Amino acid sequence: MTIGILGGGLTGLALARFLGAGCEVLEEEAACGGLCRTVRKGPYSYDLGGHIIFSRDREILDCMNGLLGDDAVRYRRNNRIWFKGRLVKYPFENDLAALPKEDVFECLYHFLTRNYPPPANFRDWCYHRFGKGIAERYLIPYNEKIWNIPAERLGLEWVEGRIPDPPLEDVLKSAIGIETEGYTHQLHFTYPRRGGIEALVRAIEARAGAVEKGFSVRSVAGGPGDWVVSDGTRERRYERLVSTIPLPRLVEALDGVPAAVARAAGRLRHNSLICVMVAVAPARRSEMFAVYFPQRELRFHRVCFYDYFGDSCAPPGHAPLVAEITANPGDGTYEAGDGELVAHVVEGLEREGFIRGSDVRETDVARREYAYVVNDLAYGESLAAVADHCRGRGITLCGRFSEWRYLNMDACIRSALETARRLAGGEGG
Ligand SMILES: Cc1cc2nc3c(=O)[nH]c(=O)nc-3n(C[C@H](O)[C@H](O)[C@H](O)COP(=O)(O)OP(=O)(O)OC[C@H]3O[C@@H](n4cnc5c(N)ncnc54)[C@H](O)[C@@H]3O)c2cc1C
Repeated sequence: MTIGILGGGLTGLALARFLGAGCEVLEEEAACGGLCRTVRKGPYSYDLGGHIIFSRDREILDCMNGLLGDDAVRYRRNNRIWFKGRLVKYPFENDLAALPKEDVFECLYHFLTRNYPPPANFRDWCYHRFGKGIAERYLIPYNEKIWNIPAERLGLEWVEGRIPDPPLEDVLKSAIGIETEGYTHQLHFTYPRRGGIEALVRAIEARAGAVEKGFSVRSVAGGPGDWVVSDGTRERRYERLVSTIPLPRLVEALDGVPAAVARAAGRLRHNSLICVMVAVAPARRSEMFAVYFPQRELRFHRVCFYDYFGDSCAPPGHAPLVAEITANPGDGTYEAGDGELVAHVVEGLEREGFIRGSDVRETDVARREYAYVVNDLAYGESLAAVADHCRGRGITLCGRFSEWRYLNMDACIRSALETARRLAGGEGG
């Protein structure tokens, strides 16, 4: 083996597939896929967080859809935001007319009259870009739930291109009820006909070559030409090393890391994800895949309806709903037991009128430690210290938690493709 790939999520598998022979993937879990896993509970299945396939990157989008072939089913987005007992079309600023009249006025007035200095944090950015009305009703409370920190502690590196600048005419049209669409790059998306989002990973894994599962990387020593990777009992040697595992875990495993770099790794903030599945029956097939909840009293920020994808995720007449909750150690939610979280979700959804508690047929809870990289204000400096050290040692960093960036599946596959090209050309990462 000449190239060792640490981690068998989407990025690691895609990289192995692009490289072809001469590499090996080391994955700590019994199955590959990382965040792109589909959980099965009885007759129900759901993903570890609502995943859909979309991209502005045509080459990668064609690659993802091509992997699924005839099983790539196309959908049109019909997501909603739950606001004062109403289902408002997503994104919020494209359906202002659906709000109570006072709220329409507040959103429009403050959008048109906003005048703030250039922002230095995400809270200020929301006021600067959208005005007080939209910022306070939706953007700030929703984002404070998903990022699990106050908006003024979030930086701006992740924002541009991810939360688009709404054209003035769209906001005006939306306020008087003329149909407009925002985030058009994800207006249409695909989802596998069967097997959940994991079907994408399985299609890549089928031609990814050597994959060693159950190998948890505990130590990394040596350097370019002779890397030694161990899980405590087994040892592997490689000429080159690519890491797709979370940066803090790489730093923990790597020998000879200076104390300042280890401290910087400790400052890299991430969020964990808890998915609470509640299957109800009888249910009419949902016309929406996802509903966003900015309400602070509800711990979940989004609920995905897997019956939206037809009978591949549930028997006819049954609806598996998955509430997504982000959590960090010490916040009480991270420590909460499954029973407490299920009760919170069932009570919350019943109170808001989405389900009847007596219709619940099955529940399940799935957790993922690394779900989101958090761009707090220390992000840039901490990341530079850690990534520079690892790259300086000759380790190529690739993927969401190794590059420590808000990368979606398409960006992970793009990064894997570019890394494979550079390695094939004899360059580092
Ligand atoms: C809620 C949610 C919704 C999302 N929705 C979408 C979407 O709709 N569309 C989209 O394009 N993207 C979406 N994404 C993003 C997508 O999930 C990621 O971009 C992608 O899965 C990241 O893949 P990765 O391989 O880089 O990381 P991971 O999936 O984290 O894979 C890393 C792998 O490394 C393994 N590993 C970790 N430590 C070790 C170790 N010490 N030794 C060996 N192996 C180790 C892990 O087990 C894992 O398999 C979503 C993400 C979340 C959290």
